[in-house]
Amino acid sequence: MHITHRFSIPVSPRALAGAFAALLALDAPAAAQGTAQMALLTTLPVSLNRGSVVETLRARNLLVPVEGVSPGQLRDTYNHARSGGRVHDAIDIHAPRGTPVLAVSDGVVIKLHYGARGGKSLYQLDDDGRTRYYYAHLDRYAPGVHQGVRVTRGQVIGYVGDTGNAQPGDYHLHFAIAILNNVSRWWGGTNVNPYDVLR
Ligand SMILES: [Zn+2]
Repeated sequence: MHITHRFSIPVSPRALAGAFAALLALDAPAAAQGTAQMALLTTLPVSLNRGSVVETLRARNLLVPVEGVSPGQLRDTYNHARSGGRVHDAIDIHAPRGTPVLAVSDGVVIKLHYGARGGKSLYQLDDDGRTRYYYAHLDRYAPGVHQGVRVTRGQVIGYVGDTGNAQPGDYHLHFAIAILNNVSRWWGGTNVNPYDVLR
C-alpha cells in the first residue's frame, strides 16, 4: 500500500514521534486499541520512511535478518522499480543458498505464504502488535516454524533461497517492514524502508 497524497494537518514532529512511540509500545492487540490508532495512522506524513517511525524502529536494534551479514553490507534498493509499475518497497540481502534467515525481533509468525512473487515467505508480527516483517524467496522454513508460533530475536526461521520470482540461482532474502493498519490484513500496511532501520 502506498500513501499517495500529502496531509495538510499541521502536526509537530515531536508530538507525532511521541504519539507513535506510545502507539508502538502498546501491548494489547491492535483491534483492542480502536479507532484512535487508525486516526493517528491517517495523520502520518508521507515522509514516513525518514521520520519518527524509522527512529522508533531503529531504537529497537533490530537484527539484520541474514546470518553473517552486517549492517554496513546492506544496500538500499527500496525505491527500485519493479515490473508492472511497482516499486520494490523492500531490500534484497544476497547470501548463498541455505544461509540461515533470522528473526529481526521477538514476535509471532502470523502467516506462512507461497506467492508467485515472494515464493516461500513468512510474515512475522512484532510484539508491538503493529509492525510486520516479511521474509521472502525462502528455500525452506526452519523446523518447528509454523503459523502462530512465537519466535525470538535471532532465531533461525528459514533459509535463503530463490523461490517465487527471484531469478533462478539469484539467492537472496527479500525483506520488508510495514506498519499494519489492521492485523488481519497481514499483507497490507504502510511500508517502511528496512535499510533506514537496519543500517
Ligand atoms: Zn526484493
